[in-house]
Amino acid sequence: MKKLAILGSTGSIGQSTLSICESFPDRYKVLSLAAGHNLDEAFAQCLRWKPRVVSLATEELAATLTQRLREAGLKSIEVVYGTAGTVRVATLPEVDFVVSAIVGVAGLEATYAAVCAGKTIGLANKECMVAAGELILKAARQHDVALLPIDSEHNAVHQCMRGGKASEVKQVWLTASGGPFRSTALAEFDYITPAQALKHPTWVMGQRITIDSATMMNKGFEIIEACRLFNLPPAKVRVTIHPQSTVHSFVEFIDGSILAQISVTDMRLPILYALAYPDRPAAPQLSFDLAALSQLDFGPPDLIRFPCLRLAYGAAESGPAACIALNAADEIAVAAFLEGRIPFLGIPRTIEEVLAKTSSRVPTSIKDVLAADEAARECARSVIGRGAPSVSA
Ligand code: MG
Repeated sequence: MKKLAILGSTGSIGQSTLSICESFPDRYKVLSLAAGHNLDEAFAQCLRWKPRVVSLATEELAATLTQRLREAGLKSIEVVYGTAGTVRVATLPEVDFVVSAIVGVAGLEATYAAVCAGKTIGLANKECMVAAGELILKAARQHDVALLPIDSEHNAVHQCMRGGKASEVKQVWLTASGGPFRSTALAEFDYITPAQALKHPTWVMGQRITIDSATMMNKGFEIIEACRLFNLPPAKVRVTIHPQSTVHSFVEFIDGSILAQISVTDMRLPILYALAYPDRPAAPQLSFDLAALSQLDFGPPDLIRFPCLRLAYGAAESGPAACIALNAADEIAVAAFLEGRIPFLGIPRTIEEVLAKTSSRVPTSIKDVLAADEAARECARSVIGRGAPSVSA
């Protein structure tokens, strides 16, 4: 029986993880939850899962939840809050496996603490590898901790990597749906509205990741994550546009063989893979209909229409400080786009300007990472505040 902590339990990955726990009650037990701001959902999860510890974003939310749990007769659940609360959830001594699915840098400290506490990590939070990859990987080596990717592409690469040795890998191919603007003309890009950008063709996800898919910055982050998780230079992490999102990624070996991972577009599958690794439990609810293979398209990405990909390759080449700035500036720019303050192409323009102003100082602690992150956010706010940046996309 694996005992789980779920960081980000009310988000889509968290809920899919709980659905796996529901399907495999003999394999997985939920011990602690970090639920953020969603009080009602956190309360419902406490009723259903009776975790030992639950964490919310703020002291006020925690006090309200404590009161509601008391009224419901659940006095034994420990309610904590904030960063210290999330760290408590992630490092509870009895926990073996931590699902890291908090969106944004809020998940960094707790994930790092979990690695240092020797927990196996199911990694769904992108910032962990993009903003703090070197630090987390170093701690994982020191504490002999496995980092199992839950993001569908990296999960696919992890599966395909089992087909050969690391030294036999020629390159990996991350597939990308191309988002809703795959075939939109460049001239129309500046008129793209938030409502149009929020419609993703194949996956239903949170707002930021949906916009990141539309700009292809999501794929850019995945390039950086793949470099770090699989110890590959950026030139060996390629992207192919695959609108059907059926092949989740490929690994190409030096003998000319290419292995692909194919499955339903359902996040429960990579979550179950990570939870059960190295086993593969039977999951008939996730079976794949081969008829879906009748049409599979692949093509090269367009770096002119999707400058975020170019910016991400550049950041991956230039190092940790640029990767932190890339992520932080993107988050601020995406929020500004959703509020109607900058146009769609203002997102890459803002990021490019922030990257140009970023120092190359290498962070040596999570605190350093958070400080560099905040500096890049401040820089992005001032770039946006000054009006539409004019740097070419
Ligand atoms: Mg992905």
